[in-house]
Amino acid sequence: MFKKILIANRSEIAVRVIRACREMGIASVAVYSEGDRESRHVSMADEAVCIGPASSKLSYLNQEALLTAANMTGADAIHPGYGFLSENADFSELCAERGLVFIGPPPQASRKLGFKSAGKAIALQAQVPVVPGTKGDVAGVAGDILNTVSEIGYPVLIKASAGGGGKGMRIVRAPGELKSQLEAAANEAKASFGDGSVFIEKLLERPRHVEIQIAADKHGNAVAFAERDCTVQRRHQKLVEESPSPAITPEVRRRMQEAAIRLAKAAGYSNVGTVEFLFQDGKFYFIEVNARLQVEHPVTEAVAGVDLVDLMIRIAAGEALPFGQERASEIRCHAIEHRINAEDPDKDFMPCPGRIESLDLPGGAGVRVDTHVYAGYTIPSHYDSLIAKLIIAAGDRPTTLRRSLRALLELKVGGIKTTAGLHALVVAHPVFQKGDFDTHFIEKTGLLARLEAVHA
Ligand code: ADP
Repeated sequence: MFKKILIANRSEIAVRVIRACREMGIASVAVYSEGDRESRHVSMADEAVCIGPASSKLSYLNQEALLTAANMTGADAIHPGYGFLSENADFSELCAERGLVFIGPPPQASRKLGFKSAGKAIALQAQVPVVPGTKGDVAGVAGDILNTVSEIGYPVLIKASAGGGGKGMRIVRAPGELKSQLEAAANEAKASFGDGSVFIEKLLERPRHVEIQIAADKHGNAVAFAERDCTVQRRHQKLVEESPSPAITPEVRRRMQEAAIRLAKAAGYSNVGTVEFLFQDGKFYFIEVNARLQVEHPVTEAVAGVDLVDLMIRIAAGEALPFGQERASEIRCHAIEHRINAEDPDKDFMPCPGRIESLDLPGGAGVRVDTHVYAGYTIPSHYDSLIAKLIIAAGDRPTTLRRSLRALLELKVGGIKTTAGLHALVVAHPVFQKGDFDTHFIEKTGLLARLEAVHA
């Protein structure tokens, strides 16, 4: 087992990984930018190294600075968290060259799956259903692309192959718009992701987002956990995640788990990862793989009663999976995660960094809070706006929802605006409680207008 792990990340996820290290008796090294000196991950780790200025490019994305910090402190492995370099196959290769274990999938697998269009090709090979669309990327309105798109049927969605975070998607409702939208999407993708590749797929009008957490070791064993439902989104960004999904039957769950495992094996995957699907009218369609730990992993930890970060570390160290499929797919409770962001609901959810004057965190049975912030902490403006995750668990869905509401009302963040009020409105909404909704839940229910009214 590793003796010391460097965590190439910041904020709540760095705190999360430090906790796993400590429970496993492994020393932890935090890295931080000049803008992050006050973050709790810095004081919590056994050692901390400043790796550069506040800008992510010069710090958390600075591969040489991270590797130097690892060598300086004698770390033998690197945990990348999520975002930043977590899905960067070049970085993972560079780690290996410098004698460090990258805690994540092998670079060949993340390279295959990193591009959405390439991931879809592997899914097709593994006989996993995908959203109907073009075979691979498209280069403008060349060849018979218009015919292909007509076969798929409008409306369609143009997506950036290198895309992420809900960015770089464009809806096309008629053939006349296709050319200009393809050009605009490619330019946007190039500017945002440094790669202009785009592909086209059918726009599902009322989908749910349902994803399967997998874990695979280096000895050919793979398991899939119960699904997470991440249908409640704002601008294609997840807001609330829950497990199990109120829309998935045991039969569909089993088929999705089998599909996810087939895909993982076809890609030569190891470590933890997530296979994302859209679900509509009883059918599921693969959209992409996230070849890393996800923000919403604690939902699965609650439901299955496992520690996914502990598992990642063990798999990276070469251990075999400690359990099989039957244990992995156990559903021990219902769980919901609320992403609390420092954003101003009155200003179109603009990030609103600033000083947290006071902080009351919820507690009690079934309430887990993952955060790096505290009273007196100033949120830097350089990074994403996630300040805390509330993970609520109880024996059944109705009790979980009541507990969520109770916990959200206990949470008090003084000095800045947050999305906690929106979460309370979601949980209290009869449509959410009934469980019958799609990715347009927020717009269809007019919740944002209600939130404005509450604030006025
Ligand atoms: P990203 O990597 O940018 O998050 P995803 O491919 O994971 O992009 O999709 C994010 C969200 O966009 C999905 O959860 C869903 O709400 C929406 N979406 C993606 N593809 C489609 C589609 N073909 N039809 C309808 N909605 C889609």
